[in-house]
Amino acid sequence: MCGIFGYVSKNKTRAIPVILDGLKRLEYRGYDSSGIAAVVSGRILCKKKSGRIHEVEKILNNTWDSQAAIGHTRWATHGAPTDRNAHPHFDCSKKIYLVHNGIIENFRELKDRLLKRGHKFQSDTDTEVVAHLVEDFAKNEGVSFEEAVRLALKSIVGTYAFVFIHADHPGKIIVARNSSPLLVGFTDNEKYVASDASAVLPYTRKVVYLQDGEFAILTHNDFRIATLDRKAVLRNEERIEWSEDMVRKNNFPHFMLKEIFEEPEAVSNAIRGRLVLKDGLAKLGGLELVQNDLRKINRLILTACGTAYLAALVGEYMLEEYSGIPVETEYASELRYKKHNLDLKTALLAVSQSGETADTLGALKEIKRKGLLTLGVVNSIGSSIARETKAGVYNHAGPEIGVASTKAFVSQVAVMALLTLFLGRQRDMSLNTGRKISDELTKIPDKIKSILAGAKQIKKIADKYYKYENFLYLGRKYNYPVALEGALKLKEISYIHAEGYGAGEMKHGPIAMIDKDFPSVVIAPSDGMYGKVVNNIQEIKARGGKVIVVATKGNKEIAKIADDVIYIPETIEMLTPMLSVVPLHLFAYYVGVLRGNDVDKPRNLAKSVTVE
Ligand code: GLU
Repeated sequence: MCGIFGYVSKNKTRAIPVILDGLKRLEYRGYDSSGIAAVVSGRILCKKKSGRIHEVEKILNNTWDSQAAIGHTRWATHGAPTDRNAHPHFDCSKKIYLVHNGIIENFRELKDRLLKRGHKFQSDTDTEVVAHLVEDFAKNEGVSFEEAVRLALKSIVGTYAFVFIHADHPGKIIVARNSSPLLVGFTDNEKYVASDASAVLPYTRKVVYLQDGEFAILTHNDFRIATLDRKAVLRNEERIEWSEDMVRKNNFPHFMLKEIFEEPEAVSNAIRGRLVLKDGLAKLGGLELVQNDLRKINRLILTACGTAYLAALVGEYMLEEYSGIPVETEYASELRYKKHNLDLKTALLAVSQSGETADTLGALKEIKRKGLLTLGVVNSIGSSIARETKAGVYNHAGPEIGVASTKAFVSQVAVMALLTLFLGRQRDMSLNTGRKISDELTKIPDKIKSILAGAKQIKKIADKYYKYENFLYLGRKYNYPVALEGALKLKEISYIHAEGYGAGEMKHGPIAMIDKDFPSVVIAPSDGMYGKVVNNIQEIKARGGKVIVVATKGNKEIAKIADDVIYIPETIEMLTPMLSVVPLHLFAYYVGVLRGNDVDKPRNLAKSVTVE
């Protein structure tokens, strides 16, 4: 996590405002402290502070004239989120400053060695060791700044994206990457470095993505990329296609609400141009290369973390029911360290919004090493998971800034439906079933819109319930993962204790918690599981529990039992999650706001979890 930003320019007056603006755009990645350092008249000036970026903004001197500067917004892994642990970190001579995203795994042993050599440390972070290491190499080996950075990078074990500046090199920055995202945006007279594209968007659309094991030397009018073994790398520039509007709140009070309202569009974008309605087929360009391999697989493992894991779990139900392939979904953090009994007819599909999730990337690399076919469902184009997999599908949800994932979830589920069609139609799925699914998929965006039109009613329900401290979320089959997602979203945004369960499991334990102060949210669409789920609702009511039910439009009976009902339009069972999750996202949002929380930046969390 963490957002890092670097800037080098011909012009001396823009560095501070540009870095501040970049950090604000990256703040969703981490926000427990922040800092800026700049080379000003032969020395480095630095301000850093715990808290949000405006804390550092208050103490910053905007008149610093500088060609090269760096900034950081932190999500602490090593050392408390205090002023002194905030980045940038520096060496003993205060000439070398750096910002870092990642974890230096061997920092303890490096630090012990450097302490013995007389280095004085100012923070408890893993990061600081690297500044001293560069200083040490420069002094003791008598090598240049660039060479000292390269030698330091070679001594590090761990993950990183770094930006370095040096007091004696006022027009230069050095960047490096290993498993943490980093891109260089450029114009003729400026270079920008950032953790993601949204931060450089106001300045340039021309970018180059650095890859693992590479570092680059940037000046205002030049940049050179090389591997740590000094091999020069030639990399083509890419163009960012996102528009500025896509990363602004427009008229919404929060990104999260804006993104929930973008859920219809997220589904439209995911399916656009990918359905052949008359043939009941999904055309997935990213899988063409491996379509013959996919015909041969007899097992599929889906892996992901957090909300993406829950989208994958919906996918498991879809794929098992319609593609005839045995599927299992595993948390990437577990899969990575598990003893696998896999054969070469198994494929792995990794799902990640950012494409940088460290656990997912780690599991993917591990499975790839075993020789299996690896696929990805990723939102961020050109991200590590997209590059690491053999083939994949982009879900095209656009940038998601709210830390709690919403539109990415529905778009991932939409891609799961496309995959189900794709793999199912390669196997036993009939033309009619294929047509039915593809036809229904095209109607989902409008159906989500109709749910969003009722947002006011959901807000009223939130008004009624926001003071409760516990919630139980129940759903069954396709809506079991949705119950988990509803509970997860409420936890993330409102800090309320919420448990998600398969409705059938309620009687095996959770029912003990039910009383008048422990409301339940039950997803009960009129599908094959409806009768069973209604029994569970009755069981809760019999114990004095309050129940909010998500039901299918036209079901008047349910209103007689439930305390509150939110209606969703009818669709086929496998596509219901894309509808039933929408009121749960809105409910979590409104409850979070009513409790006075910063819903776009919930405490302790960060977007794009690039640490393990
Ligand atoms: N490990 C560094 C720290 O704790 C960077 C953390 C990160 O990338 O999130 O300061």
